[in-house]
Amino acid sequence: MGGMTEQAETSRTAILTVDDDPGVSRAVARDLRRRYGERYRIVRAESGADALEALRQMKLRGDLVAAILADYRMPGMNGIEFLERAMDIYPGARRVLLTAYADTGAAIDAINVVDLDHYLLKPWDPPEEKLYPVIDALLDAWMQSDHRPVPEIKVVGHRWSARCSEVREFLARNQVPYRWYNSDEPEAERLLEAAHADGLSLPVVITPDGNPLIEPTDAELASRVGLATAPSADFYDLIVIGGGPAGLGAAVYGASEGLRTVLVERTATGGQAGQSSRIENYLGFPDGVSGAQLTDRARRQAAKFGAEVLTTRNVIALDVCGSARRVRFADGSSIDAHTIILATGVTYRQLAAPGLANLTGRGVYYGSALTEVSACIGQDVYIVGGANSAGQAAVFLSRHAKSVTILVRGPSLEASMSYYLVKQIGDVPNISVRTCTEVIEAIGEDHLENLRLRNTATGDTETVDAQLLFLFIGAAPLTDWLDGVVVRDSRGFVVAGPDLSVGGERPRGWELDRMPYHLETSIPGVFVAGDARAESAKRVASAVGEGALAVMLVHRYLEKR
Ligand SMILES: Cc1cc2nc3c(=O)[nH]c(=O)nc-3n(C[C@H](O)[C@H](O)[C@H](O)COP(=O)(O)OP(=O)(O)OC[C@H]3O[C@@H](n4cnc5c(N)ncnc54)[C@H](O)[C@@H]3O)c2cc1C
Repeated sequence: MGGMTEQAETSRTAILTVDDDPGVSRAVARDLRRRYGERYRIVRAESGADALEALRQMKLRGDLVAAILADYRMPGMNGIEFLERAMDIYPGARRVLLTAYADTGAAIDAINVVDLDHYLLKPWDPPEEKLYPVIDALLDAWMQSDHRPVPEIKVVGHRWSARCSEVREFLARNQVPYRWYNSDEPEAERLLEAAHADGLSLPVVITPDGNPLIEPTDAELASRVGLATAPSADFYDLIVIGGGPAGLGAAVYGASEGLRTVLVERTATGGQAGQSSRIENYLGFPDGVSGAQLTDRARRQAAKFGAEVLTTRNVIALDVCGSARRVRFADGSSIDAHTIILATGVTYRQLAAPGLANLTGRGVYYGSALTEVSACIGQDVYIVGGANSAGQAAVFLSRHAKSVTILVRGPSLEASMSYYLVKQIGDVPNISVRTCTEVIEAIGEDHLENLRLRNTATGDTETVDAQLLFLFIGAAPLTDWLDGVVVRDSRGFVVAGPDLSVGGERPRGWELDRMPYHLETSIPGVFVAGDARAESAKRVASAVGEGALAVMLVHRYLEKR
């Protein structure tokens, strides 16, 4: 990289420090400025909330943040809580906690919770000995590994357009930062004019190099924003289909154990977990972790070990070609491998009530609560569903919405939702739960305006004002493309291992003189992991575990062929 570029990039790079004691805050900033002021912008905040806002603003402007220093003891949001939220905005920034000697226990906890890079004891005098060597090392590491200039992508679209909403969701789920312009704001009009776009075909996406893409497909977007979409080889040891926790787990273990591994994902890596606002029951994260954060780390980990990760590639067929297993894509191309792991998970079922299909993406959303959060500010939001995913979304959206109403068909939440979430929901004043209630119609011209609800016990109906409806109504595996290829159960889940045997005998058509391995499907060398497997646990931890186990069985298969 040339000196000029580096200069230009680092001038937009910040070091942020936050401390609620103004004297300490100024002193840290002064010391940082003295040594790093020429190369970095030093940004100072006096509360976690202010610091988060500053980070959000920098993110929107496309600035880089190299390091974040946070005091531990701050009212409202302590340093660990702040750093955890800051990680969602700038995952690559190096994290330092400032603590008093008495709080070193907390600092040690923080190493686990927020993957802390360093903790500094106050006071840090003289900075030449105690502060600068630490920060120098962290900045060096940042420059070498995480120093990725943030490309600014601009998306001009209509607030209530289904495709515009999908594009935003696609970029967000792929961790691609973008700036959104509503088509009726003056800057959007200027951008459209510059792009020679008529404003009728939206969205228009403007890439960092200034090229406008009018109504791009996901595949076009992926290739223009630097996501890999084409395989680099035509033969692998292992093809993993699906980039949720199971697929990512398989890719990490496969690649780290020396298998030539490619992971193929239809939309964006992360799967359902990537859409979870907070996973609280995954081992090792006592304070919870956002699904996007967890799965983004897993994607980087898989790439670090050398797995190829392809996005926007939909697998439509699986063939057996002698000892090779072939995977075919929608565009007619294909790749082969010795082994395959199916990790295709499940997808939300659609609700059939009149009006919903038309208004999907225009106020009606399936599961995508995270990207639509800004639309919820000050609104009355409805959520359909009684399982944990609905509960998590309710808690998350209640922080922004005026009110959140959970609509459940059954008589209570307790039967379908984890106890900890039912309790959390009970403690949030602006969440209400309406049991025995179903949506029978969605009404709206351009976007959702009203919902018709029916009480399942009495049959009474009622129309309510509603601009936003999120549906979390159970999920089904999308495995029709495997029909007649591997054995599936009546609901489409892939049957594996001992569940394939009929009365203790080998499954029909199975030609090997051994029984199928634990996660092996009815085709030798083709395994299944995670939610797509019949009788699976439907949890992140079990999906990751099965991904890892499937790789172990891949090795056994390869050795004993
Ligand atoms: C909102 C929400 C909150 C949740 N919260 C929790 C929680 O707190 N704790 C917990 O343990 N679990 C939670 N879960 C459940 C958990 O996320 C799932 O059990 C887990 O993600 C399953 O992982 P998976 O890899 O098997 O499948 P998925 O996560 O479903 O991933 C499958 C992937 O395969 C891709 N795919 C499918 N078909 C194809 C194809 N033909 N070609 C290419 N790619 C394909 C999909 O696009 C998807 O990315 C939650 C789920 C949701 C939706």
